[in-house]
Amino acid sequence: MRSVTLLALQLWSAVVVAAPTPSTLDACKAIQSAVPGKLFYPGDGPYKQENSDYYNIGLSELMPACIVRPTLTPEVAEIVKILNKFADVKFAVKSGGHDPNAGHSSVRDGVLIALSQMKGVEYDKAKKVVYLKPGGQWSGVIKELEKDGVTIVGGRIGAVGLGGYLMQGGLSYLSSQYGMAADQIVEYETVLANGTIAHINQQTNKDLVVAMRGGGDQFGITTKFTLTAYPIGKIWGGIRIFTQRDPTFAALHDFIGGQKDPKAAIIFTTMSNPLGGSLFLVFFFYDGEKPPAGTFGKFEQLRPLIDMVKVQPYSDMVSLAPSSSTGVTMRTAFRSITLPYLASRPGWYSEIEAKWANITKSKLSGLAALTGPQHTIAFQPFGPLIGRASEARGGNSMGIKGSDPPRFILEITSLWSDKKDDEAAQGYARALTEWIEQQLKEVSGQASAKGDKVADYLPYFMNDAFAEQNVTGSYRDYERFKRAKAGVDPSGFWTRAGGFKY
Ligand SMILES: Cc1cc2nc3c(=O)[nH]c(=O)nc-3n(C[C@H](O)[C@H](O)[C@H](O)COP(=O)(O)OP(=O)(O)OC[C@H]3O[C@@H](n4cnc5c(N)ncnc54)[C@H](O)[C@@H]3O)c2cc1C
Repeated sequence: MRSVTLLALQLWSAVVVAAPTPSTLDACKAIQSAVPGKLFYPGDGPYKQENSDYYNIGLSELMPACIVRPTLTPEVAEIVKILNKFADVKFAVKSGGHDPNAGHSSVRDGVLIALSQMKGVEYDKAKKVVYLKPGGQWSGVIKELEKDGVTIVGGRIGAVGLGGYLMQGGLSYLSSQYGMAADQIVEYETVLANGTIAHINQQTNKDLVVAMRGGGDQFGITTKFTLTAYPIGKIWGGIRIFTQRDPTFAALHDFIGGQKDPKAAIIFTTMSNPLGGSLFLVFFFYDGEKPPAGTFGKFEQLRPLIDMVKVQPYSDMVSLAPSSSTGVTMRTAFRSITLPYLASRPGWYSEIEAKWANITKSKLSGLAALTGPQHTIAFQPFGPLIGRASEARGGNSMGIKGSDPPRFILEITSLWSDKKDDEAAQGYARALTEWIEQQLKEVSGQASAKGDKVADYLPYFMNDAFAEQNVTGSYRDYERFKRAKAGVDPSGFWTRAGGFKY
């Protein structure tokens, strides 16, 4: 009997803990009065639609107490002012919902401010800038701008959301030419912690703009971005799939270390076959219809198993993946690490991939290898061309420079379907980055001893990072950015919200 009572008490407390607090429900009510018709509760159609529109479907389980979908900046300001009155209420800000980290653009039992209805893109021909609201996806934006023969530095996969991508940095096919997506932001229209609407401009607030470029959601809610526009015509690009391990990694090594043409870009992804062997899926991109011979180095000598490269509109290239996150029904996680290019160690990528195969093989065997978590590893060149273009536009919070030796960003994507695998899937990725971190000093030292110029500043890339990774702490100007954040958020209001903290 005692144990039944105990169980009942435990269940009851679990229910109590899981329910929204009275204060949260009061905040929802106050917001509902301030923005009538735009706040929704579980059971309402718009709530269900917004709450199911996550790339990581596991985030839908968090269930906010209410979801508010403002359409105007003053409404966002009003919501922020109301949340200031409820100091214990958790909240989160969501644009596209593609960040797979729990609690970033999702919140359990709190208030979700969803910017999905704040959409719109406009090209200002006279000023050569684009005004962009945070809702929507890259495919639509790129297609719309293409009508005017222009584009902005944006997502490589059209289904990805805009607001988070821009606030957290943004790596693009155009980054070697123009820098990261956030480097193109010349003005932020942002609702600050006290509810005021600020226009944070590169001319008048240079330091704050640099801190915000890639700084995440801790400075305010951006409701409009002003971004530099660039001409775009047809491009050469698409996917090639390779199977030859050593020659493909050799081509990757040369491209990371020796990219000369800023119009070229690749994303190199390895997909381990659970039954053995790997496929190498490489996205090629060239801003122009014909890359000069040699642009992609040793890749040009490889014979792909499948070749889908062609001349096509830029909007078609970014729309290779489905145009909506709705319908993706997998649980997902990202984890990332920024690594130096080691000229004398061309086998490093293969070593990393082999270690990865060992980690997963030791955990997943038999049927589980096919039905359990699946993973891909992307090796993304992150070279001095990006640093040079970034510096020329005033720089961003990652603080990369044209004089830095080449780097690459490793991104592990985990996909799985069963909730019980949450910890395990994230654990495999953690095991790999921990192993790399352990050997990093040694392999870098060996390479330096052989005369390689090795990057020793290795900031994490926020858009690809796992929540527990200390992204902001890896920035060389962390202390300066922390002060900038405190300057616009003295009470620590945004600390209650979502993403990577200062
Ligand atoms: C399939 C896929 C492909 C990807 N490809 C790329 C790529 O090529 N390059 C790249 O750089 N990244 C890429 N990413 C990562 C992607 O950029 C991030 O997931 C990004 O956060 C997505 O933007 P979002 O609007 O969907 O973010 P959300 O999930 O809505 O938000 C992410 C974070 O940003 C904050 N935030 C969102 N909007 C605002 C705003 N308006 N003001 C203040 N804070 C805000 C949120 O609070 C949250 O902390 C990819 C992701 C996926 C799933």
